[in-house]
This record gives sequence, C-alpha cells and structure tokens, in this order.
Amino acid sequence: MNDAVTARVKGSLRTMVDFDCPTCDADAQVQAVAADHLTCRTCGASRPFRLGRLHLVTGSPGTGKSTVGRVLATRSPTDLVVLDTDLTVRPEHDSSEGAWLGFIDTWLRTAVGVAQGGHSLVLVGYSMPHQWEQQPLRHFLGPIDYVALVCSDRELDRRLRERSWMGSQPGERAGLIELNRTFRSRTDMTLIETDQRSPEAVADRILSLNCLRSRPRDGGSS
Ligand SMILES: [Zn+2]
Repeated sequence: MNDAVTARVKGSLRTMVDFDCPTCDADAQVQAVAADHLTCRTCGASRPFRLGRLHLVTGSPGTGKSTVGRVLATRSPTDLVVLDTDLTVRPEHDSSEGAWLGFIDTWLRTAVGVAQGGHSLVLVGYSMPHQWEQQPLRHFLGPIDYVALVCSDRELDRRLRERSWMGSQPGERAGLIELNRTFRSRTDMTLIETDQRSPEAVADRILSLNCLRSRPRDGGSS
C-alpha cells in the first residue's frame, strides 16, 4: 500500500500520511515519529514520512494578518503554502474551547499533509501556542514557529474604528486592545511591530526570519 502512494520525485520524498497504522490499524498515539519515517509500536511496520514544520502568523484582529497574508501568498517561494485559517472557520468553532481545539486539529492535520509533498505551511490567523502544543497529533509535526503581528494600543484603536466588522464596537475594541497587549508581552513568539510598516514590509520581514529561510528543502527535518 505504501508503495502505491509513495514516489521519489527529483530526490525528494512525496507521500501521503496515514496517522493510524495502515498495516494493523493501531492508532496515531502509538506511531513513533522520525524525520523520514513512522514506525508503528504495535506491529513494528515502518512507512515513509516527512517531518514538516509549521509557521503561524497570529495576532489580535486589527493587526493586519489577512492583508499581510495576501501579500505573503504572492511573495513566498513555491515550497511555501500560505493559507488563511478563515478559509475553514465556521461560527460553531467559537461555541466552545473543544470546538476551537477541533478547528486547530484540522489545520494541524493539514500542515502534516502539506509537508508530505515537500512544502511547508504558513498559516495566517488568530491562535495561541497552547492550542497547538496540547494537540493529540502534535508529535507528527516538527517545530512550530509562532510569529505575532502587534501594534500600539493607539494604532490598533484607530484601525478597529475604521472597520465595520469585529472590533468596530467600543466594548469589542477594549477586549482586542487587551489581547494585543497579551501578544506584546509574549516571549515565545517572534513579534513584528506593524505601526510603521506597510503590509509588504511586514511580509518581507516574515520571509526574512531564520525559521523560514532555514526550512528543509529536500526531506528530513531541520
Ligand atoms: Zn501497526
């Protein structure tokens, strides 16, 4: 089965991922993950795999994520796939913490799948590190790089007042300004100030980060 879905193309591994063991059907939690293969701890069978890396661009609403994402998509090298989490968001994802974690799980699975084709996923949209790090399938991904777009209180207030969706109401604005402060205090993310930068400049700054410049290009992990 693995032979049918695996091919070596120009020296790079391309495969499909099975989270559960395709040989004995043991579940994802008993699969040992290495840079280029998975081994089932139940039956011992190995299968090809590429340990990918995920780059997250997060931040409070109003810090320019979606605009920057559109620029990133046009400027990224072809081995980067840039997607906005808004592509799949639905109102019910906000209904509970569990529903939101399910939403994150779907994107984590997507990042693992994208990695099997030799690409890295740059995911643009609000999330927090603990929502990724506690995921049951977290071990199927290598490092997750967290980049947060931030701005000053005053600039965020100005931007939110200009929009007609989330953050346009005073109560919402106060909450989002507090959220932006939370991001600004984080030490586990790369913070990019957006007050004085155009979306193009922010996108270029993201693409110049070491985590993106040093990404694996031909299999394995970095
Ligand atoms: Zn097995």
